[in-house]
Amino acid sequence: MIPAMPRAISLNTPIEDLHNFRIARLGDQLSHKLAAALAAHANKRTAAEATVEDLLNYLPMRYEDRSHPAAISDLANGMEASLELRVLRAHGYPIKKGFARGRLFIFEITAYDAGKTGREVIVWWFVSGRRAYEIVKYYTQKLAPETRFITFGQWEWNQTKSTYKLQLHRPADELEILPSLEQQQTEGGVDLEHSEENISDPSLAAIHVGRRVPVYRKLGPFNSKRVREIIHAVLANLDLETIEETLPADLLQRTRLSDRKRTLHEIHFPPADASMEDYELARSPAHTRMIFEDFFWVTFALGLKRGKRTKESKSATLRIGKSELGKIGSVLPFKLTKAQRRVTREICNDLKSSAPMNRLLQGDVGSGKTIIGVIAMLAAMENNLQTALMAPTEILAEQHARNIKRLLAKTPYRVELMTGSLRAADKRRLRVALQEGEINAVIGTHALVQEGVGFARLGLVVIDEQHRFGVMQRAELRARGLNPDVLVMTATPIPRSLAMTVYGDLDVSVIDELPPGRTPIETIVAGEDQRQEVKKLISREVKAGHQIYVVYPLVEESEKMDLKDATRRYEYLRDVVFPKLPIGLLHGKMKPAEKERVMNAFVSGEIKILVSTTVIEVGVDVPNASVMIVEHAERFGLSQLHQLRGRVGRGAKKSYCVLLTSDKKTAVAEERLGIMAKTNDGFVIAEKDLEIRGPGELLGTRQSGLPEFRIGNLVRDRELLESAKREAEFYLNKEKSSATAKLVARIKQDTRFGLAAIG
Ligand code: ADP
Ligand code: MG
Repeated sequence: MIPAMPRAISLNTPIEDLHNFRIARLGDQLSHKLAAALAAHANKRTAAEATVEDLLNYLPMRYEDRSHPAAISDLANGMEASLELRVLRAHGYPIKKGFARGRLFIFEITAYDAGKTGREVIVWWFVSGRRAYEIVKYYTQKLAPETRFITFGQWEWNQTKSTYKLQLHRPADELEILPSLEQQQTEGGVDLEHSEENISDPSLAAIHVGRRVPVYRKLGPFNSKRVREIIHAVLANLDLETIEETLPADLLQRTRLSDRKRTLHEIHFPPADASMEDYELARSPAHTRMIFEDFFWVTFALGLKRGKRTKESKSATLRIGKSELGKIGSVLPFKLTKAQRRVTREICNDLKSSAPMNRLLQGDVGSGKTIIGVIAMLAAMENNLQTALMAPTEILAEQHARNIKRLLAKTPYRVELMTGSLRAADKRRLRVALQEGEINAVIGTHALVQEGVGFARLGLVVIDEQHRFGVMQRAELRARGLNPDVLVMTATPIPRSLAMTVYGDLDVSVIDELPPGRTPIETIVAGEDQRQEVKKLISREVKAGHQIYVVYPLVEESEKMDLKDATRRYEYLRDVVFPKLPIGLLHGKMKPAEKERVMNAFVSGEIKILVSTTVIEVGVDVPNASVMIVEHAERFGLSQLHQLRGRVGRGAKKSYCVLLTSDKKTAVAEERLGIMAKTNDGFVIAEKDLEIRGPGELLGTRQSGLPEFRIGNLVRDRELLESAKREAEFYLNKEKSSATAKLVARIKQDTRFGLAAIG
């Protein structure tokens, strides 16, 4: 029996069924490919789970107004514009240079516009890789003389050619071939990627020109133009009756947001009378509604979780009175700063309360977070509870163990280091001791919790330098039947308001003051040509008895090459540049014992120059080091550079941070590095980083399992975030209302939030 054909598409229609709806050239195999690509994008487990709603949530990266395409005569230097052009000639030529010979081409189109309004322009891009020659051949064929195309980008005036030039970076996204007027029937709109996914339908040509169009990132094998066609067809066949409003009616009224039906259309296809500027700035009514909703659900979900937490209670409430404080005071090696005293009070209040602590301690590098963690641990130990300190790297765990053992030497507490590199027998012994409650403080990497180590009475977990945000650690601990106090310490200074708003699940304490007697670090951005001066700086500082770090990036994709780079550089420094100085090498691929030996030699001052990969990025504390040299600084993120810089300037002497960039530094890299030279303020730097890289990467939400925003941008949309948060709280406070019940029911269905289990 043939199943009845569904009449219209709804938001729940599986993408794999789309071929039942007569969408041009979308058969069942392509439907499946589309579903697979979307599933990956929407974090669905299988292709079968991808729905039309996911497709409509695949938002344009920008919009082009093709209703009045610009003409060549309208261009000005540096202007961003899309032009409809015709090919005069197109060809590729190889760049003959060293190893790249035969692998690197420039492809160049000379083109004119329909009105011949100005001198022909040049559109070009690089073609590289093993298949470069084939690709060039393919383009030459596709871009035959008279072919019409639309292209978008920033046009630059070229003096030598005395015309405008446009360099494309992703031709598949930035150039669309239009169906030629003459051969519309046969050739249609075959696009640059020659594959069945991208054969478009000539009868759909009108979707792409003479109007405002969305431009999408490639979705799996589907290019922007094909995604546009498919979304257009889906919207045309979508049964509007099945689109339920997700936000409460009174909220829509209060906030004047546009309704969901309209939004789903207009986010893809801007109406003819809408302001294109609003669309570019993500300020159209459709954007506003989408962004608001994005923030609303995340803050609502986190609020829901948080409400739950204050109601649960921990196993033991701490007593922190005179005698406990006295004990703590007796081990402090220095006077706490005012900020440190304030956060200590905040933490002690949490420890004394019956709800489990879930606190984030933020403090710039070098602000003295470690001692705060130790104080909290001591408070717990004084209450006869066990504590654990987790660090992101073994090097850091070892350093903490060394310091804390020294600090607590006069106390009766047993402190142990437990890392993956221990011998099996030792590990077993430590496990038993922990289980029996004989160890008071255990220090290790994150593996400590994951490996299922058992405790007799775990009272507090401190998580140090957890860039990869520690919100989910509590969930992990709880899943193992533990409900201790949790303190997460981080130097990634998420602008405070954001931390409070978005991660409302954590309470936040901030150390906004450095310990006294620090001299500001001087930051220098230097090119290859300044190596000689850098060498002089190193010699001078070593002579003065100080130590030096030289750090190399280690990018995952090219890890092997990078490592060879660092190693070769180390040998060069050791044998050629400073043959008389003791130099050490440290990287993540070394055996743990070897790492420890090198690190100890650097801590004791035996090694003067430490060449390293970013394993030393977080937390390493060697106050005698006064120079941090970062090679290929342009390859690091700002917050990472700030972390690296924080390894020096830990004593009273003057320290330096040299950011070395290769010759080919880009303008963006230069601008970014300039920020580093201008400010030492971690908050300013984080804010810039957030602008440049987006929040997901900075906060590491991916790893932490926190929901990511689909469209909302924490910096750009701060005001919407605040209003969304206000509205979310409004409904959270009306626990008993039917509107709130509906919202709760809806959010439990959304797998992004993992709230299904909350009662
Ligand atoms: P971070 O916040 O980056 O983890 P650390 O805890 O490693 O910083 O502290 C940086 C350095 O400052 C350490 O050498 C530490 O001993 C020292 N320090 C911390 N607090 C104070 C203080 N109140 N007075 C003097 N030195 C301090
Ligand atoms: Mg630290």
